[in-house]
Amino acid sequence: MGGGGLLQNRIKKMAAGVSRFLMARDGSTPILMYHSVHPEHPLAVRPEAFREQIAYLVENYKVVPLREYLEAKRNNSLTPGMAAVTFDDGYRDNYRFAYPILEEFSCPATIFLVTAFIECDNYLSFGKKVSLYPDLEPLSWSEIKEMHPLVEVGAHTHSHIQISGVKGQVLERELTANIRIIEENLGYKPKILAYPWGQPFDFTRSGCTLVQEYFQGAVTTVHNSDNRSPGISPYHLRRVGIGPADDIELFAAKAAGDFDLIGLIKGIQARWGKRGDRNTSYHL
Ligand SMILES: [Zn+2]
Repeated sequence: MGGGGLLQNRIKKMAAGVSRFLMARDGSTPILMYHSVHPEHPLAVRPEAFREQIAYLVENYKVVPLREYLEAKRNNSLTPGMAAVTFDDGYRDNYRFAYPILEEFSCPATIFLVTAFIECDNYLSFGKKVSLYPDLEPLSWSEIKEMHPLVEVGAHTHSHIQISGVKGQVLERELTANIRIIEENLGYKPKILAYPWGQPFDFTRSGCTLVQEYFQGAVTTVHNSDNRSPGISPYHLRRVGIGPADDIELFAAKAAGDFDLIGLIKGIQARWGKRGDRNTSYHL
């Protein structure tokens, strides 16, 4: 990490301190969000950092499968300290670099699959077309099967579409193809969706209620470490994005909720059109 990165982390830690001072809290229930865990890719979390994060998480939180987390949310029984780990898109490095660590710590996780990415012939051009992390290979079905049941699969639309940007029929096709292909290959239907891009303007539109017909819940990329409030719908679960610059101190602060205020401010900025780089904007 260069000097700029260190300085930026120092500013982040100061801001987290201010936020901690301002926000009274009784614990958190974070859903961690990852994309790539890779030793070289510039947007990825490094495997050694990931290992430190998972070790910290299982030591300090009760990490449950997202399915169980959602059940608790739906029964109003999410308890402080409950946490879940998620990955978006379905990159092969999740199997190569993250899975051995998840296994080592018996840490359950969910990977949200873009089925057209898993099935495509040319991942380089597909990834570019739908703006996934560049140059990363997809998982194979056999790798996904090998990771089960510690790692479960969720839906992420067939071709990574912006849900608010397509008409009802296209959306229905995207959701049903995603569900069908997962079921054909794995023998079970995904019950939870991650909205591609995941900011409110990406999934809010009349007609988006279709999601509720096919899924029991959905996760966003809106930053927050807690989903206990009855005002938060099971279809709008917030997550804590972890990026390549997060050291263990920042990771712990994010999981505990010290960045929730900053996330709120960023969310308001996003609503006013300052959307930034789509691949990194949700990493605070
Ligand atoms: Zn995605």
